[in-house]
Amino acid sequence: MTQWRKIFSKLGFQSIVPPLALLLVATLAFGWLAIRLTTHFSNLQTHISRTTEANESLIRVTLLRSQVKEALLLYEATGRSELLSQIKMLESERAGESAHLKNLITSIEPDVLHLEAFFAGTRESLGLRQKALAALANGQRNRARELIESFLILYRINSARMEDLHGFLKSQLTASEAEMSQLLDSLPYFIISLLLIEALGAYFIITRHRRRVLQPLNLIHNGLGKVARGNLGEPVPVTDAPTEIREMMEDFNAMTMALERTTRELDLARSRAERAARVKSEFLSNMSHEIRTPLNVIVGIADILGEKMASLGVTKEVNVLAKSSRMLVNIVNDILDYSRLESGRTSLAKAPFDLRSAIKEVASVLESLAREKGLNVKIDIDPSVPRFIVGDEFRLEQVLLNLINNAVKFTDKGEVVIHAKCEKRGALSLLTIKVSDTGIGISPENVSRIFSRFEQAEASTIRRFGGTGLGLAIVKQIVNLFGGEITVDSKLGHGTTFSVSMPVQAADAAPVSTDAAPEIPGTLQSPQLNAPARILLADDSSDNRFLIRAYLKNSPVEIIEAQNGQQALDHYKTAPFDAVLMDIQMPVKDGYDATREIRAWESEHGRNVTPIIALTAFSLPEEIERCREAGCTSTMIKPIRKQDLIMTLNRFFSRAKPGLTAESPTEV
Ligand code: ADP
Repeated sequence: MTQWRKIFSKLGFQSIVPPLALLLVATLAFGWLAIRLTTHFSNLQTHISRTTEANESLIRVTLLRSQVKEALLLYEATGRSELLSQIKMLESERAGESAHLKNLITSIEPDVLHLEAFFAGTRESLGLRQKALAALANGQRNRARELIESFLILYRINSARMEDLHGFLKSQLTASEAEMSQLLDSLPYFIISLLLIEALGAYFIITRHRRRVLQPLNLIHNGLGKVARGNLGEPVPVTDAPTEIREMMEDFNAMTMALERTTRELDLARSRAERAARVKSEFLSNMSHEIRTPLNVIVGIADILGEKMASLGVTKEVNVLAKSSRMLVNIVNDILDYSRLESGRTSLAKAPFDLRSAIKEVASVLESLAREKGLNVKIDIDPSVPRFIVGDEFRLEQVLLNLINNAVKFTDKGEVVIHAKCEKRGALSLLTIKVSDTGIGISPENVSRIFSRFEQAEASTIRRFGGTGLGLAIVKQIVNLFGGEITVDSKLGHGTTFSVSMPVQAADAAPVSTDAAPEIPGTLQSPQLNAPARILLADDSSDNRFLIRAYLKNSPVEIIEAQNGQQALDHYKTAPFDAVLMDIQMPVKDGYDATREIRAWESEHGRNVTPIIALTAFSLPEEIERCREAGCTSTMIKPIRKQDLIMTLNRFFSRAKPGLTAESPTEV
């Protein structure tokens, strides 16, 4: 039953049955009326034609009567025998015509009063005529005269009756014709009302169809538009509509509700994930800060010990300590870097740089390590590679450093080849750099895992080669940021080729770096400040203050210490300094506020701008930007190496000596 209803509804009958039924009734009624009308019309036509015929017959009978009468009177007067046969012939003709007339009139109106009287009169007058003829034949002229007199009287009476009959037929004809013309007059009204009713029916069907089908469909259409614009909260009002459309509206509402629920859940999940990512990022940042602070001391002390022990010839243990602490720094950097890349908070720099020398520089950094292992490092740069491109030099070098470092690390004999080429792709060029080695290779089942974070091809790798399994994950993220892709082709025991392809834009030339600082070769040398200086050192950690003091021990410096930002500010106001080393995380007043207030004080008192070097354990770019905004001239990220500190200070002193003013811009 339901099935039938559905089919019925699908065909659209449900909505148009009432108007269709109405139309059908109207059509049937009009059909019946039309048949009735046609029948009536044809009856009227028959009636009219019969009446006309009867009228004609009556005229003929009248004529024959008068001819018979004339012939009888002539015969009486002349006695010509041929008149007798003429009378007989006219008589029989009249009899036939009279019978025909009678039939016609009876078919028109069976109960015509004058008819019987007329025919009775006719019969009587025939009898009188025949008697008169017989009397004439017998020579009884007087008797014949009397009979003819009687005949003539009856003739006049019958003529009057015929007049009545004629009047009757005439009235019949007039009535029929009037009825006929009335019928013909009403025909246009009939047709117009038929058309009107049909049009009304059609209009009714269309309106109903629109209300029950088109309007609900329109509502669904509007609803879809709202969903497309992301407005899921408004259900479509379920209106009076055929079952299928109503079900469609209900399904649509159920779907949007489910969609809204899912979207809400997704939003919730996203905000949770974002919060989790933020918490993770803050945690990593804080952890990095917490690890870097003691690491700063370890790395620094290792450097200082290295210097001291070098003179005593004990370097191996100190070197191991220094190397381990530097490895720890690298791990912390990698974790932080990966977390930043993963959360999508890293953007690429866009500046022209020398691509060819970048590749060569990275290779040269690792060349000594390769040489130690007896490996040959080959660089093959195709002429198609442009010298200058626009992009992020640091990140490209980071990718190459990771790949070449791995190639050297996982190869015991043979060579490491770096091959670069470029192909034109419209306005851009596709740069492909391949790093191939003849090392241990990677098994096919492990190839897919190595780009995942903390994944290493073999469990034994970590024991033999060390590493965190983060390098390639970082490389992949960076290559993706470049809009490129990284693939690997490897054969276990025979070697590996990593291939990086990315779109690059060639540049005319790279700006000459103005930041080049004099190199201080070797970590175990003892670099010093070039000129005597007065330095304000603000750090809440006594270990860090001790370390900086130790770094600058052999330099001609006077160091004034402060344990927080407020103390630093107070000291600064008392006497001029050549530089301020400002830790950022400090109690009472942090490094940002202290720097801001120093800059404000300098400006207020028209004092020279003293270089303020921020020392921070937070390495995020936003932290560095915050330091710059607070007024720091430069930022150094912990752990701080002795040579880096002295290099930075020397750079500022050589620049600052002519005297900076408060209006001079600070170095970024
Ligand atoms: P890590 O080297 O710190 O362990 P990576 O992410 O750089 O982390 O590398 C992940 C793993 O991929 C490595 O542990 C190693 O198993 C494999 N791998 C990477 N490069 C090579 C290579 N050139 N030859 C062989 N194996 C490699």
